[in-house]
Amino acid sequence: MPELPEVETVVRQLEPEVEGRRIARLEVLDARWSRPVPPEQLGEAVSGATIEHLGRRGKYILMELDGGRTLVMHLRMTGNLILREGEEVIDPSEGRRLYESERSTEERHLRARFVLDDGRELWFTDPRRFGEAFLVDDDGLEARFANLGLEPFSPEFTAQALGEMAAGRTAPLKSFLLDQSGVAGVGNIYADEALFRAELHPLSPAGSMKPEHLEALRDAVVAALEAGIDAGGSSIDDYRDARGEKGTMQNEFLVHTREGEDCPRCGSTIARIVVGGRSTYFCPSCQVRLRRRPKRRAKRK
Ligand SMILES: [Zn+2]
Repeated sequence: MPELPEVETVVRQLEPEVEGRRIARLEVLDARWSRPVPPEQLGEAVSGATIEHLGRRGKYILMELDGGRTLVMHLRMTGNLILREGEEVIDPSEGRRLYESERSTEERHLRARFVLDDGRELWFTDPRRFGEAFLVDDDGLEARFANLGLEPFSPEFTAQALGEMAAGRTAPLKSFLLDQSGVAGVGNIYADEALFRAELHPLSPAGSMKPEHLEALRDAVVAALEAGIDAGGSSIDDYRDARGEKGTMQNEFLVHTREGEDCPRCGSTIARIVVGGRSTYFCPSCQVRLRRRPKRRAKRK
């Protein structure tokens, strides 16, 4: 499932390619992608618009259009946004030549197609079909993201801010990191990687972190996400970058999906547990399980 580093990779690749280009035509081929807005309505509203900028907020892709509107897209579980340059004869997923008239995997999963004014096409493909898009006026953008938390690469994301978010929370750290209203963009992979880097056990109650833990976790979240971006994202399953290629972060995971392997820090065996329904990988030896902070004792009479 794409998280911040995967979305950021796509945005960074596409931005210089699409900025200033006019969308000759947007074809929405799946009503689920634009719902509740009918596909033709969204297609009509976006066709003819010029792309002024491509950005990101949390795991959302923001395509800023002229006329003060932004097309917001979310890849959800299996969405990809791929720039197509001319006719492809090699199917990047299958790694083989296609027969004439055979549809590629991308074509079968095509949900929306942007035809750019230079003839290139931007394809939103999505096998599981949870991906979505909606158009908002720029005035309404802030309200739309009112419940989305801090951007991890913003100056507002400090140990202190993390402490304010975590104060009094008994939720395990893993769930705390996955909550998009706290820190935006961290998902299952990078939460595991960040907690390992911070040497914190995923079941530690969020409100039990002391200042040194908050510092460590802040730095670890940033470092884990940066590592993901440097590797072009993780392709455990369907994720492909804007060129249709796999990321390599899955080869560099410190703990995620590494159950039974040696901890790269202490050599113990990496374990897997389920937290909030999500597979969670960690080292039981060197990731410290914090205890719930005892409530202040009531004054004696
Ligand atoms: Zn360890």
